Amino acid sequence: MRYEGTVYRPPSEAGSLIIQLTIGCARNKCTFCSMFKDKQFRVRKLDEVVEDLYDAREYYRDYKIKRIFLADGDALIVKTQDLLYILNKIHEIYPECERISAYGAPADVILKTDEELKELKAAGLDMIYMGAESGDDVVLKNVKKGVTAEEIRTAGLKLKKANMIVSITLISGLGGKERVYEHAINSAKIISDIKPEYVGFLTLMVEPGTELYEDYKNGKFQLLGPVDVMKELKVFVENVDSEGTVFRANHASNYVPLKGTFNADKQKMLALIDKAEKEGIFRPEAYRGI
Ligand code: SF4
Repeated sequence: MRYEGTVYRPPSEAGSLIIQLTIGCARNKCTFCSMFKDKQFRVRKLDEVVEDLYDAREYYRDYKIKRIFLADGDALIVKTQDLLYILNKIHEIYPECERISAYGAPADVILKTDEELKELKAAGLDMIYMGAESGDDVVLKNVKKGVTAEEIRTAGLKLKKANMIVSITLISGLGGKERVYEHAINSAKIISDIKPEYVGFLTLMVEPGTELYEDYKNGKFQLLGPVDVMKELKVFVENVDSEGTVFRANHASNYVPLKGTFNADKQKMLALIDKAEKEGIFRPEAYRGI
């Protein structure tokens, strides 16, 4: 089993076996993202991936592997027939595996037909983590996400149609001071339209080595403070209509840990936001992390 460079996975995949199907991110242009800057994107040779699956089986021979996460940035860019081959191999080598998941960039989801996505789901690809970051076209353009809100919406709905579990990530503060309201309200809109099973809200932290960090240093981009982040979150929570969606904003980057289920827990979450705003109790900067 080999890993190339830093390997990222969603927090909820902490207990999963991670297998790199691709190396890096095919786009690698988002101005806020430093994850794969050190990697030249490529799809790994399938026989290497299969070797890793066998090696991991040997290593974990006394364990039941219930979950497998296909890294790096975007497994869905891989040709459907190759993905199906790997999914089938996983089930052959790990018959006990109950869930296979991967990151899926909206642009690559759109390139798959409904039929292909259904085939992938039938072969065991159960869950896709999609980084939307924002539902606001201006913000998406500014951060060079490479897709529009409409394309994100289409991608999310396609995954839902294929009965996959959809987890969407948004980034609080990504619109800077100029787009607080629009970022919040338009993000609420795409979540209400897609109604994913999960939504996670991180809070922006600018990292050295990214374009956004340079913009921040040069005064072209203004970071939100905790009070503005709370205002943005409030607009988002107030405007989401997505019955049953599990909401998490309890990442180390968030100023106030929030979690609940839409729409039932809206009032409870709004009360917590109000309390944090009034009392000014936020996670100190020194304790925030990505
Ligand atoms: S945010 Fe996602 S799509 Fe954008 S560069 Fe990072 S990994 Fe690639």
